[in-house]
Amino acid sequence: MRKFTLKKLTMAMTAALFALSGCSEAPSSDSSQQNQNSEQAHADTSLLVDEQRLSIYQPVELNADLSHLSDQQKQMISKLIAASKIMDDLFWKQAFSESKTDFIDTLTRDEVKHFANINYGPWDRLNGDAAFLSGYDSKPAGAQFYPEDMTKEEFEKASFEDKKGLYSLVRRDENGKLYTQPYSQAYKKELTEASNLLREAAELAKDKSFANYLTLRAEALLNDDYLASDMAWMDMKTNPVELVLGPIETYEDQLFGYRAAFESYVLIKDKQWSDKLAKFAQFLPELQKGLPVADKYKAEMPGSDADLNAYDVIYYAGHSNAGSKTIAINLPNDEQVQLEKGTRRLQLKNAMKAKFEHILQPIADELIVAEQRENITFDAFFANTMFHEVAHGLGIKNTINDNGTVRNALKEHASALEEGKADILGLYMIQSLLEKGEITEGTLDDYYVTFMAGIFRSVRFGASSAHGKANMIRFNFFAEKGAFEKTEEGLYRVNIDKMGDAVKALSQLILTYQGDGDYQGVNQLVEEMGVIKPALAKDLAKLEKASIPVDIHFTQGKEVLGL
Ligand SMILES: [Zn+2]
Repeated sequence: MRKFTLKKLTMAMTAALFALSGCSEAPSSDSSQQNQNSEQAHADTSLLVDEQRLSIYQPVELNADLSHLSDQQKQMISKLIAASKIMDDLFWKQAFSESKTDFIDTLTRDEVKHFANINYGPWDRLNGDAAFLSGYDSKPAGAQFYPEDMTKEEFEKASFEDKKGLYSLVRRDENGKLYTQPYSQAYKKELTEASNLLREAAELAKDKSFANYLTLRAEALLNDDYLASDMAWMDMKTNPVELVLGPIETYEDQLFGYRAAFESYVLIKDKQWSDKLAKFAQFLPELQKGLPVADKYKAEMPGSDADLNAYDVIYYAGHSNAGSKTIAINLPNDEQVQLEKGTRRLQLKNAMKAKFEHILQPIADELIVAEQRENITFDAFFANTMFHEVAHGLGIKNTINDNGTVRNALKEHASALEEGKADILGLYMIQSLLEKGEITEGTLDDYYVTFMAGIFRSVRFGASSAHGKANMIRFNFFAEKGAFEKTEEGLYRVNIDKMGDAVKALSQLILTYQGDGDYQGVNQLVEEMGVIKPALAKDLAKLEKASIPVDIHFTQGKEVLGL
């Protein structure tokens, strides 16, 4: 049951909730990377990067158990996949100016075509968007949301309707003046087709709330007003099939972060795992009280009604399928919906499992001492990821000394510290629930060692993003506290006792910085600790040499699912 009162949610909390959606693993772009000779015709598409880059993505079949679904529900899934493919085409248009077929056809090697498909264009998303083919300039920061020749200054000076709109493209008229074109007009043909598919799917849907959502979403695609469908999405509780579809995240707009990119996820709910998750959310208020910090830093009360469920994804499309793949979703982004109904958190179990098997385990084999490798378990990896999401709800959102919201006080470091908080308090929660006997699977050693290996996995996405910085601060802090040691063979061994103390100390440090809104302190912490030091850089190079994939990509669709 969901209990959300407006009273409980101050504007400050809203701001913090808004920050939650940024749990993507994609690194932020580094515009210093690049830049190739733009004079060359782009038909000259020789590879500019190390051949090894082409195999950084491990192929994974995206499958799930559909045996509990009726034929009608399976037909519905086919419609949802068809609509998702349209989101995929639209995202391509938002990311890159050349048509997909024309561009891919000019490429001769299959491996390069494949890599271009994963990146939705000629820029390497996991390498700061550097061009990987000759003949291309750096990626425009505003992707195709804005005219490529538009500068930030021009935009800021100009005045036109829907300037900061989520759902419109900025274009130039014949006199060179900027104006906006709503998505519903710019992509009318495609969105009408997708809308029709969602309506057909709604007719096939057994679950009433899901049918209602599909119908409202179908309308939204045609009128750019997603509020009603977002509200309806929050009300869905019992549907076995789940859909996230539309223009949603704004990370692709690296110029301003205003405009949303098309994407889709088709998901199957995992009832058994979802029931497990529901249990833990109830402990939030109690765990908040137990936080290892002075009372004044934990005076706010977290809600215990977090909507947290586990899913298997059967289709990724558009933004969610480009470059690194999301393993946890926290939506919607609309503040009005968050105020009234909160957010839903979706844990993507099969995608997590693929990353665990193909990336985390091989990393552990390279970097963790042999006797601790048996402590690397999927249950622990899943729990660490899941409790990260839940832990965003712990701590406080407002400073205790009139510095306003934590978010405003810590400025550009706010996200890094918030992600760092979620990571470390997630582990604190696990530790506490193990002690209480509420978590019965695995041992403390499993969670600690898997957590440690997880740092190596995450930091490969780069140290420049909020998650990357948070990871490095934690790694360097652990090193200082002796939470791990390095053997002569260059392997890492977690010191279980000292790790427990380090978790406490770091939790305390972060919660205090947040509560005080201590910008100077955080700035110093990020500068000193938020960096990859040479010894770690060498270890990460070892992973490259061992050809351990950086991320996964999917073989997916109706054939894979047997539909
Ligand atoms: Zn997060």
